[in-house]
Amino acid sequence: MECIFCKIVAGEIPVTPIYSDADVLAFADANPQAPVHLLVVPRTHYANLVELMEADDPALLARIFSVAAQIGRERGEHGFRTIVNTGPDGGQTVEHMHVHVLAGRHFTWPPG
Ligand code: AMP
Ligand code: ZN
Repeated sequence: MECIFCKIVAGEIPVTPIYSDADVLAFADANPQAPVHLLVVPRTHYANLVELMEADDPALLARIFSVAAQIGRERGEHGFRTIVNTGPDGGQTVEHMHVHVLAGRHFTWPPG
């Protein structure tokens, strides 16, 4: 198993869980780009958003974004940003679908 987020889900790479349930795990990004920078990942491996959508599991998609919204609401006093990078042009570096939740500063638009 080469997937780093699968290793985190399996407990082989230790992280401090921010949120954990049977389907979803949230933890701090190792290279934070904001005062709050968390990742929400499904415990099941999907390489990216397209693969997750092809799995036709709307309940899991809802759980992931429900957790992201809850974390953002709790930790982003003035709002937050959610990001799903897909593929090389999307800036995806870990091929296990995840949602970034960033907060604690103002984010500009358009992104780089
Ligand atoms: P992306 O570039 O959208 O695929 O995001 C991958 C994110 O995973 C990056 O922001 C990395 O900093 C983060 N990351 C990589 N390895 C780890 C790790 N072991 N623990 C926590 N975050 C990680
Ligand atoms: Zn994985």
